[in-house]
Amino acid sequence: MDYDTRGCGLSQRRVEEISVEVWVVDLEAVADACGRTLAATPAWRGEAPSLAGSLHVMACSCRHGLHSGARPLTSNAMVSFAFLSHNAFLKAPAASAQTPFAVAGIAWDGAVTNRPGARFGPRAIREASHMLCDAQHPHFDVSPLDLLGDAGDLPLPNTSLAAMRSAMQPLVAPLLQAHHMCWLGGDHSVTLSLLRAYRQHLGRPLAVIHFDAHCDTWATHFDEPSGHGTWVHEAMQEGLVIDACFTQIGIRSSAGREEREYVSRRGGQIFTARDLRGLESPAQLSGVLAAVRERLAAHGHPPVYLSLDIDCLDPAFAPGTGTPEPGGLSTNQVLTLLEEWADLPFVGMDCVEVAPPYDHAELTSQAAAIFVWTYLCGRLWAAGARQAAG
Ligand code: MN
Ligand code: MN
Repeated sequence: MDYDTRGCGLSQRRVEEISVEVWVVDLEAVADACGRTLAATPAWRGEAPSLAGSLHVMACSCRHGLHSGARPLTSNAMVSFAFLSHNAFLKAPAASAQTPFAVAGIAWDGAVTNRPGARFGPRAIREASHMLCDAQHPHFDVSPLDLLGDAGDLPLPNTSLAAMRSAMQPLVAPLLQAHHMCWLGGDHSVTLSLLRAYRQHLGRPLAVIHFDAHCDTWATHFDEPSGHGTWVHEAMQEGLVIDACFTQIGIRSSAGREEREYVSRRGGQIFTARDLRGLESPAQLSGVLAAVRERLAAHGHPPVYLSLDIDCLDPAFAPGTGTPEPGGLSTNQVLTLLEEWADLPFVGMDCVEVAPPYDHAELTSQAAAIFVWTYLCGRLWAAGARQAAG
């Protein structure tokens, strides 16, 4: 193979130990993107042992270049920092006018309280979804592939929560107008921005089904106004949601009573993980299923948003998350609820807090992919059922 390693400080032997084609192409692309030459970039002169993290190092250099006034990234290099997901969800084509459904990644984890890593969630969920792309859903007997596009990851700054949210807002609105969206997080702070966008888009507050180990009703984020554990409180304060149609499922983390009971005090419903112990089949979960339906019917069947924090699952099913809480739901419990609620008037969903660095055997990203896929197939099944009913 003919390649030139001069300038990046790598010996020929070391370079041959790694995947040369990808490495050399990316080096040049990143150098170009930063407006630098390879030889003038000390961070890239590392020895081969650091190459496992080499793209990350280069990405950091690259991004540093962006913020220090170097010319912007070019289309032949990375287009949204290092977290761009190159592989589409379900290997779907790019989102377009022909794809009424779309997924988009929100690779942001700057508002976590414990372990970071959810910025890598979209990429992991997309990879895990590839196992699901070749046939129909076993319960709904449909495939979303002909109607689904992948809008990629939102190009967001990785600076402050406020900067991320202000950049996110104008990106979300056109996607809502064009598609029924599934959002791949990212930490749970992104949901507040999404609910604001849906509230504006629909012109009315939403019902919410919120799966989580945590109540996310804290009034502050360690003395900051907002974080990944405050969005429920903020959404209710801002009137983005119908409090009586807000349902929490799987709650079990430590929290003050004020926070734990906030949603029910506002008129919503809470089904803790303890409430759901031993309930897995549709018959066993019928009380929960009916309780949500009754609330929706009593409030004129408002649009429903699904926010699915993957840490609702027990760490046995989803270890790859920043704030795991033992004693949680099983994948089957969540699937049963999603399947049985498929006919509800959902308008969108997010699946957040998948943090691949703590995952094992891709359990968590597989669960997230299955949930998003099941949600999408449920939408198609429900549309078909409505059509058949005339
Ligand atoms: Mn959460
Ligand atoms: Mn949580």
